[in-house]
Amino acid sequence: MTPARLLLALVPAALLAALVMLALAALHSPALIRHYPVLLALNIAGIALLSGVMVYGAWRLALHLRARRPGARLTLRMLTAFGALALAPLVVVYFFSVQFVNRGIDSWFDVRIEEALNKASLLRRNTLEALRRDLVEQAAADAAALAQTPLSPDAATVRLLDDLRRAGDYEELAVFTPGGDVVAASGARGGALIPVAPASAVLAALGGGGRGHAELEPGGDGGLQWRVAVTVNQAPAASPAAALYVLQAVKVLPLRYATLGAGIQTALAEYERLVFLRRPLKFSFVVTLTVITLMTVLLAAWLALMFARRLAAPLGQLATGQRAVAKGDYRTRLTVTSGDDLGALVQSFNEMTGQLRQAQNQAEQSRRESEMQRTYLETVMAHLSSAVLVLDRDFNVHTYNKAARAMLPLGPACQGRALNALVADEPHLAPLAQAITAPRRDAEWQSEVPLAGGGGRRVLICRCTRLPPESGLPGGYVAVLDDVTDLIRSQRDAAWGEVARRLAHEIKNPLTPIRLSAERMRQKFLPQLEEPGRGAMDRATRTIVQQVESMKRMVDAFSGYAQPMRMQTAPVDLNQLIRDVMALHEPPAGKIKTALELAADLPRPEVDPGRMRQVFNNLMINALDALGGRDRAAVTVRTKVVRRGGAEYVEALVHDNGPGFPAGILDRLFEPYVTTKDKGTGLGLAIVKRIVEEHDGVIAAENPPAGGALVRILLPLR
Ligand code: ADP
Repeated sequence: MTPARLLLALVPAALLAALVMLALAALHSPALIRHYPVLLALNIAGIALLSGVMVYGAWRLALHLRARRPGARLTLRMLTAFGALALAPLVVVYFFSVQFVNRGIDSWFDVRIEEALNKASLLRRNTLEALRRDLVEQAAADAAALAQTPLSPDAATVRLLDDLRRAGDYEELAVFTPGGDVVAASGARGGALIPVAPASAVLAALGGGGRGHAELEPGGDGGLQWRVAVTVNQAPAASPAAALYVLQAVKVLPLRYATLGAGIQTALAEYERLVFLRRPLKFSFVVTLTVITLMTVLLAAWLALMFARRLAAPLGQLATGQRAVAKGDYRTRLTVTSGDDLGALVQSFNEMTGQLRQAQNQAEQSRRESEMQRTYLETVMAHLSSAVLVLDRDFNVHTYNKAARAMLPLGPACQGRALNALVADEPHLAPLAQAITAPRRDAEWQSEVPLAGGGGRRVLICRCTRLPPESGLPGGYVAVLDDVTDLIRSQRDAAWGEVARRLAHEIKNPLTPIRLSAERMRQKFLPQLEEPGRGAMDRATRTIVQQVESMKRMVDAFSGYAQPMRMQTAPVDLNQLIRDVMALHEPPAGKIKTALELAADLPRPEVDPGRMRQVFNNLMINALDALGGRDRAAVTVRTKVVRRGGAEYVEALVHDNGPGFPAGILDRLFEPYVTTKDKGTGLGLAIVKRIVEEHDGVIAAENPPAGGALVRILLPLR
């Protein structure tokens, strides 16, 4: 049992006990009347305690109301209702009780009652007086009968007295001398009777000529009895003194008269006591009633407060819980305090939150699972070397992986945009868009897409799949792109390497015997020949030797291209290297202008200086070839540091203002054997590209809008 419940049980019990005692005291219970002040003080203390509890409860309720605590207003409303319900009948009862008590007490002191009591008392006195007179007369008659016989303490006198006693229904009959000595006696109880003599005052009064005397005295068995004394005058005329005796008769008063008389006497005494206590009595009753009423009101209010609080508590709890649920906190569990309807409500609230929590947990779990799957899929996609592009049914970009971002490249703002809109911003994506959006009937298709980007021309294999819309998904397309540039290039390089090796083997080997034969023929036959044969022989053998030499150089160049490169890299001052190469190719003064725009403090890339010199040498030869015989011809070489895809590069540009690269070979410039020159090998740019790529660099050629030909080389800085 909790302390609050104990108090709840004890306080009303104790107060009720005090009330009962107070009420008993007010009703003049003789045992409790002495404790009335203590009881009153106890009750006032109870009232003070209850008032304190009520004030504290009201103060707390006011605080809760101000804080808008859930259930506070309901508590107030219930408290008001309970209070009004208890207070109204109590006030009415109190008012009527006070009236009733006042009237009741007043009615006790009604004039008629007092009169009746007085008259009853008078009647009693008169009756007793009549009885007394009758007795005295009867006793006098008996005395007269005795006067006829001489009286002495003998058996005859006693017999006579016995007869008289029986006839008169006396308890006792005795004859005394005037001095108070017993002459003879007769008693109803028989045995040895020693009668009590009349009082000396009575004897004196009788001796003085009194006729008789009677008085009431307490008798046997708790009742009353008359004691009557009269004179016995045997010879009145002769000698009054000698013949004088006193007859004493004792007669029991009938019990009826005794109790009636005592009752009247007691009633009168009680009545007089009440008259004396009338005002204090009224006051004590009103005080008792007031205390009882106050106590009851406070008790009722306190109980009302307790019950209202107990009733409102689950509702407040429910409101708090409901707020928590509204905020998404489903862990709230309310304590079930009762087994009634409210308890059932709280129970069902708990069940509801439990189910919600379960559902939330399930949702959370499935969300986590799908999140995990999504992350897993994203990780797989991110680590795919192939670019993956997912589009919806209208060819809007839905999602793409890291490889796609790097390969195409795609910016971060591409998501959700239409593929054609992307092409408007990035024209180089046009072939890809065409490959994906071209109308097809098959569910899957594949094509080779050449893309010309900043990193040069690249070839992608694009495999497209149409997503079936019936699998619950909105449908769309998945394009998987693989960069096969390197593959194609290496295949081509391998093919050309094979050609170069074969050429070297099949052509270079016979060249030496051809040249030796031609020279021997010349040595042997030239001196012997006459003109014009001698001139023809001279020209023919010279041509053979020259052409063989030229073919040898060409074959050497082929094998140089085909052989694997062995690099010896070191940090190189590229600006100085370019200046050295330019100095070698110093063209005839005034014919071709050369300009160097080299960035100061250029970082040193790790390159093979010999190979790099070959690169710029080849580019300069091509530029000077293209500019040959043009007016205001100029070659500009620029260097600077640039950033691409988060990495730093040294960019070197070789720009001439010649006719530009022939349009027909622009996309194949770097392939071997692509040439427009009569004596060209078509290996110059191919070798340049190979060297640059061996350095992990990028090379691109373009005809800029300003005119001329531009070769752009990017060398990574490590
Ligand atoms: P080659 O010089 O032996 O022809 P290259 O590979 O060096 O071989 O050049 C290939 C072709 O590219 C040339 O035949 C030429 O048509 C073109 N070309 C190279 N450089 C330039 C340039 N600076 N201006 C115009 N065309 C050029």
